[in-house]
Amino acid sequence: MSLDDHAEDLASDLGVDKEEVKADLENLVEYSVPVEEAKQSLRRKYGSGGGGGGSSGPSKVDIGDVSTDDGNVTVTARILTVGKRSIRYQGNEQVIHEGELADETGKLSYTAWEDFELSPGDTITAGNAGVREWEGEPELNLGESTNVAFEAEALDVPYEVGGDATLSDLEPGDRGQALEVEVVEVEQKTIDGRDGETEIKSGVLADESARLPFTDWEARAELMEGANLRIEDVYVREFRGVPSVNLSEFTTVEPLGREVEASDTATRMTVRDAVGTGGAYDVEVVGSIVAVRDGSGLIERCPECGRVTQNGQCRSHGAVDGQDDLRVKAIVDDGTGTVTAVLDDERTAEVYGGDVEDAKTQARDAMDKEVVADAIREEIVGHEFRVRGNLSVDDYGANLEVTEFERSEDSPADRAKSLLAEVAE
Ligand SMILES: [Zn+2]
Repeated sequence: MSLDDHAEDLASDLGVDKEEVKADLENLVEYSVPVEEAKQSLRRKYGSGGGGGGSSGPSKVDIGDVSTDDGNVTVTARILTVGKRSIRYQGNEQVIHEGELADETGKLSYTAWEDFELSPGDTITAGNAGVREWEGEPELNLGESTNVAFEAEALDVPYEVGGDATLSDLEPGDRGQALEVEVVEVEQKTIDGRDGETEIKSGVLADESARLPFTDWEARAELMEGANLRIEDVYVREFRGVPSVNLSEFTTVEPLGREVEASDTATRMTVRDAVGTGGAYDVEVVGSIVAVRDGSGLIERCPECGRVTQNGQCRSHGAVDGQDDLRVKAIVDDGTGTVTAVLDDERTAEVYGGDVEDAKTQARDAMDKEVVADAIREEIVGHEFRVRGNLSVDDYGANLEVTEFERSEDSPADRAKSLLAEVAE
């Protein structure tokens, strides 16, 4: 083994720059220190330095083997994505870089607490990187005790480098992603941010694959209805159970120079698959209404918080003078599962065939509010509907906040066939 090989060995073990190690090694060997002893000494010098004994630093592991039981590890990996974000950490504003890195065996999320000047495509050896658990998965922390060395040779990895993604690819937790989208809805609002009142924009983005809600925390002028944009470095959060695209101060926005063929149809899914996603934006299911739940028809809401009141009592505000409203909570069953479709006042008025005043008149005449829910039951239970909306799933079940509710044109026989075909897949 040549000195160069020894240096290479050591550098990759310790995750430090090879030339630096080689210079040290040469120095020691020149003073007649046996090479193995020199290496030991350098392991101590570059190691983690934690507690006495054999402080040779964490050993090198494959990404696929990193587990939440690991304390610190050394890995060689290709940077797939880099997202930049400003966070408030222990009371201070701090800029962090985060994304995913990978080797041949797997990929991991990382957070870099220092600016190591990482770019997508870089191959690095991260010596003494911390492992922490994030939502049940291991994540690497690159901090001040981490040595980051850039490798000259790019590591071949079975993942796409760079953050280009379609909207249907995105999942909560994704960072540093780039999108080519059309802005299909947008509104500007003022919120109470952490630094006082701030203007933000929110709305809906669409590409060929899907539609997703977004928030632009900088309220950029380019985010206009109908604009076709390339948006780089976004992160994805879960908002009311569905993935939401976030544009931060570090996000860049450029005109795209082409028209995106924006999807204007919802993703058709079985109830089982939809619920399995844990929450989805703009999905469509087709199923029979098997019941209209209590709390449907003519209801009263708390004037303070909008919650539905029970016998004039709000859960948060006690006895209140409730405001009349219309709502339907209908159970949809497509044979694979059930979901509760929640219709707002307008959509309820359509299926009921009257507005809130009509409902009040009917209830007064019958001296019973329940007649309104009964009229709605009569209208929809036992029939098949195409239900489009935003799905959220929590401990209490799955709710579809309805945007479209129409009697299905599919015949039950066709539905059965396409369901069977899906099950057979
Ligand atoms: Zn209330």
